[in-house]
Parts: sequence; C-alpha cells; structure tokens
Amino acid sequence: MIFAVGLVIAFVILLVFNMKNRDRRQCRWREYRQGDTSQWRCIHCGAATEGTPGEVPKLCFRDRG
Ligand SMILES: [Zn+2]
Repeated sequence: MIFAVGLVIAFVILLVFNMKNRDRRQCRWREYRQGDTSQWRCIHCGAATEGTPGEVPKLCFRDRG
C-alpha cells in the first residue's frame, strides 16, 4: 500500500515537471530588431522582453505579464 502511494506521488511529480518543461518549450520567440538591441515577443503567451539580437530568451515571462 505504501509502495502504491509512493508510486502515485512520484508519477504526479514527474507529470508536473514534464508540464513545466513543455510550457517552456512552447514559448516561441519572435525577434523585432531595434538598432543594437532586439525586442523578443513570445507568440505563444504574449510575453515581451528586450535582449541581444540573435539570442533567444530561455525563460518564459508569462508570469510577469
Ligand atoms: Zn511564452
């Protein structure tokens, strides 16, 4: 019984972890060049950030609005 509960908990943790990773991978950044810098906009969640041209942001800024 304890093994079964532990298995379910491990499964749920794995599921949540996978969902988080999949969320991050779904981010699709589009580059808008502005001189020396670029504005990156995520077409998946609508997040926007400034960054280096040619360098895709690794994080999703969805939580920040
Ligand atoms: Zn995003």
